[in-house]
Amino acid sequence: MADISNSDGSSIQIPTIKFTKLFINGEFVDSISGKTFETINPRTCEVIARISEADKEDVDLAVKAARDAFDLGPWPRMSGSERARLMLKWADLIDEHKEELAALDTIDSGKLYHYSKDFEIPLSANMLRYYAGAADKIHGQVLKASMEFHAYTLMEPIGVVGHIIPWNGPTFLFFTKVSPSIAAGCTMVVKPAEQTPLSALFYAHLAKQAGIPDGVVNVVQGFGHTTGAAITSHMDIDAVSFTGSTEVGRKIMEAAARSNLKQVSLELGGKSPLIVFDDADIDKAVEFAVLGIFFNKGEVCCASSRVLVQEGIYDEFEKKLLEKAKAWTIGDPFDSKTQHGPQARTTYITSKDHYEKILSYIEKGKREGATLLLGGKPVDIKGYYIEPTIFSDVKEDMCIAQDEIFGPVLSILKFKTIEEGIKIANNIKFGLAAGIMTKNIDTANTVSRSIRAGTIWINCYFALGNDIPFGGYKMSGFGKDYGLDALYKFLHVKSVVTPI
Ligand code: NAD
Repeated sequence: MADISNSDGSSIQIPTIKFTKLFINGEFVDSISGKTFETINPRTCEVIARISEADKEDVDLAVKAARDAFDLGPWPRMSGSERARLMLKWADLIDEHKEELAALDTIDSGKLYHYSKDFEIPLSANMLRYYAGAADKIHGQVLKASMEFHAYTLMEPIGVVGHIIPWNGPTFLFFTKVSPSIAAGCTMVVKPAEQTPLSALFYAHLAKQAGIPDGVVNVVQGFGHTTGAAITSHMDIDAVSFTGSTEVGRKIMEAAARSNLKQVSLELGGKSPLIVFDDADIDKAVEFAVLGIFFNKGEVCCASSRVLVQEGIYDEFEKKLLEKAKAWTIGDPFDSKTQHGPQARTTYITSKDHYEKILSYIEKGKREGATLLLGGKPVDIKGYYIEPTIFSDVKEDMCIAQDEIFGPVLSILKFKTIEEGIKIANNIKFGLAAGIMTKNIDTANTVSRSIRAGTIWINCYFALGNDIPFGGYKMSGFGKDYGLDALYKFLHVKSVVTPI
């Protein structure tokens, strides 16, 4: 392990990379082809490690391991409380290794180390604990179908699940997918994003240490159009649970339809509005607006990338927002004072580099005639940094108000009446989340019922919880993560009917 010094005097150990191979049937194995790909630290721009790259043949092996574990192994057959016992062990091991795991996510994605260590990783361990608590409470219903028949339902695990996740939450999104499905008794093949392969392999290692049987959790690393596509088109996978872009979500539905009609759930992109009314607590609104777009460098699906401000407070809001955003601290993601790290390094094979894409949207915003209030350029330090950027006078049909940029770029729009605010908020293809800042309960109620989005935050933002269902309307996808709704995604309901 190498040490780096923090500005608060502490030192942080950068772990040596222990796991770089595929995890199939409880073992770390090389890919059949021997191919590997690089993962890059977005802060230092250096290669961290070379990772085994899974082709279709490797995915076949992983699916076979998961299928055998499902059809023949103990996992779906053991009691819910026994599954819970092993899940709880896994959660404890995650807590024990949180420093090392946080460091892996930081070097892989530019995420803030202290946030990962103190919040995201413990929250992920708690997600396992939440679903462990549900594992022994999965039961059907007794029904009386008619005078002649008696009926009951069984809740059965759906089978082998393919989980495909993006790079902006390598830990959190891994457990968002794995926790409910493993509690349900499913077995799985997980494909992390090619940009952030490191921590998932460590989690697989800890699952084995916790005693989770071989073949239940398999991890295959690789690119979307190869490894991912081999999962979505596989004839022996029963369901795919996907988090990622709307563009890829569409491909996943197509692949599922063309193969074995596997069940699909899609957690996709967003362009969420934070609607600030004249009567809002303006300081709180400014705080949430800054956090809502600049947290995790804007690489958050439910980022408040559109702030809609009522005209009576527009000028004051803009002034205060600018002050607050200027104080947002850019720096090394290992430093406890840093709020803004480098953008994740995403050299796609199939699409444009993410960093370049963010900068090109900033140029588009300028060309479209929006006023650049803050930022707009790369930061002049080593690493893939982009300044926190704010555009005002944005019109609702501009690209910067319609497209998901997935970076630290905020668009501010003005509205006059409640009706106009609702209309602008809904004039978008996405429907993931929305925030409402008002002291008027009638306004809050009217607007929350009128916005077509899966989560509405009133006088708060990013308030997520293991028990609060989260998922999109419209082109932000369908199917819920978190809460018992996510557990039910991984269960079949079987009806059994018998004469009385
Ligand atoms: P992406 O869609 O490019 O990739 C996501 C995953 O899909 C990666 O693992 C990738 O390798 C894989 N993939 C790509 N092409 C594939 C294909 N043809 N077949 C199968 N798999 C394929 O998304 P990204 O750039 O990694 O992540 C950013 C996106 O994720 C944003 O749109 C963001 O809003 C979204 N996101 C949504 C949520 C949510 O809960 N709704 C959460 C986080 C991120």
